[in-house]
Amino acid sequence: MRGVDKITEKNVTGAMKDVKRALLDADVNLRVVNALLKQIKARAVGADVTPGVEPGQMLVKIMHEELTKIMGSNQAPLANRTDGEPTVVLLAGLQGAGKTTAAAKLALYCLKEERSVMMIAADVYRPAAIDQLKTLGKSIEVDVFQMGTDVNPREIVRKGLQEGKTRKINTIIVDTAGRQVIDAKLMKELKDIKSVSKADETLLVVDAMTGQEAATLTRSFNDEVGITGAILTKLDGDTRGGAALSVQQVSGSPIKFIGVGEKVQKLEPFYPERMASRILGMGDVLTIVEKAQDVMDEAEAEKMTRKMMENKFDFNDFLKQTKMLSQMGSLGGLMKMMPGIGGQINESKLKEAEVKLKVADSIIKSMTKQERGNPELLYTAPSSRSRVERIANGSGRSLAQAKNMISDFQKMRTMMQRMSKQMVGGPDGTPAE
Ligand code: GDP
Ligand code: MG
Repeated sequence: MRGVDKITEKNVTGAMKDVKRALLDADVNLRVVNALLKQIKARAVGADVTPGVEPGQMLVKIMHEELTKIMGSNQAPLANRTDGEPTVVLLAGLQGAGKTTAAAKLALYCLKEERSVMMIAADVYRPAAIDQLKTLGKSIEVDVFQMGTDVNPREIVRKGLQEGKTRKINTIIVDTAGRQVIDAKLMKELKDIKSVSKADETLLVVDAMTGQEAATLTRSFNDEVGITGAILTKLDGDTRGGAALSVQQVSGSPIKFIGVGEKVQKLEPFYPERMASRILGMGDVLTIVEKAQDVMDEAEAEKMTRKMMENKFDFNDFLKQTKMLSQMGSLGGLMKMMPGIGGQINESKLKEAEVKLKVADSIIKSMTKQERGNPELLYTAPSSRSRVERIANGSGRSLAQAKNMISDFQKMRTMMQRMSKQMVGGPDGTPAE
């Protein structure tokens, strides 16, 4: 409870800076970052803050949702024709991006989906490229169509598709040549191959370590050849994957798969939500907000505050609150997740508090319904002494423990009343009264 219930530009300035730094650290293109921050500001200012959460933490959560949305929210599947014609998948990208590896990975993926597959070797500039694809094909038992290095790639693809059709292959994957840099000749060749193959998918293969450059790269390929999606490779490294965001923002096309290793099995569908967490790298904060959202009901929180103000907070409320705390995990675990204080908590104090909560719990559970709802019965009524003795006996705790617990509760109640009145002050933040 912090007395702040809306996000304002001011109460998230620090968090805005943190988010910006996180995105830049993740190698998201600066222009993309600025566009995103503008977008997030527009959405976040005025938004409600979940009780128990700080405005800055809430902002991080909203950012995460926004990033997920940009990256497509749902997993985008690979095209799959149902009219009997083969689905043609063209792979494009710079040299070394992982196209040839991705071709074999995709082929294996299709096999698992029970599609028949064939690959076409259309990289004619290096003899080794054809051998590489053939070796990979052999390892997964997928045929590779090739005509050596002396034939025009356009011609190879045309012939390869003919063969695929005759053999009633479901999916044909075309591996193309790459250059170290984007040049006109490569783009022309790709455009040619795309038009002769009438590709259903043109996937841009992007090395995740390209970082900032991914935006420019995507723009060129998308403007000149046109892409339907992308495969982000080499995400098994420690790169945070900001390239994913740039690719998506620039092309408007989804990332469909990620490469997470050199082996042919190391291909995974792309999940926007997971990638958003990876890029933001603030998993702990997200967990805190999600947990609080799960257990905190806003109406309930308001009711509780009112009760505190009127000094009506009773043992039932106390039980509810401690239950909520325990749903959020251990006190210690929760404190450790809080940015800034994680390292400073005192383990033995925390243990002590957790034990105290357990003792209190057992004592309260020995109270009658009437006593739980009217704590006064235990410290002002003439019968209070015998009541406390009975409760202590029933809970298996000592009389001193029960007395201490009740007197702590009394003090807490008074303090809560004072604090809640200060928090719910006038509109300008000055305390009421
Ligand atoms: P191409 O020039 O675009 O065809 O790239 P290649 O498929 O030949 O891959 C270039 C290098 O990157 C090879 O050494 C691959 O083993 C490696 N590679 C490809 N994808 C991945 C990946 O997802 N993770 C890792 N760690 N290495 C990869
Ligand atoms: Mg290659």
